[in-house]
Amino acid sequence: MGIKVDPKKCVSCMACEMACGYHRDDGFALLSSCIMVTRGREKRDYSGVVLKEEENLVIARPEGLEIRKLGSGVEAEQGKGKEDASAKPLLLREPCDLCSDRKEGPLCLQFCPVNAISMD
Ligand code: SF4
Ligand code: SF4
Repeated sequence: MGIKVDPKKCVSCMACEMACGYHRDDGFALLSSCIMVTRGREKRDYSGVVLKEEENLVIARPEGLEIRKLGSGVEAEQGKGKEDASAKPLLLREPCDLCSDRKEGPLCLQFCPVNAISMD
């Protein structure tokens, strides 16, 4: 079970990233968030959402969903100019625990204004 982001609905508002950072760090600490908006430099107005799970990165881009195993090299793409400053080092992030300490469930899901996040 995990959360799923629908890239067709996501408008890259960063509410999930703010909510997750707030939940995990008692402040709007984006580096503490395990879900993040990422933008590509090569394409104008292009963005997606990356979720760090225990073993995978789930990348929701306009062209669809991609799942990459951690350690498969995706971390190395960072810092090579492919993404902007909103992309924080993935290895520093804690994996998503589905807000296990919240009886109401995932906070990011609650905050997403366009219902792009769901549980699967
Ligand atoms: S479910 Fe909780 S821990 Fe996981 S990305 Fe959403 S806010 Fe963060
Ligand atoms: S809160 Fe929803 S719309 Fe906003 S960036 Fe996250 S998934 Fe996308």
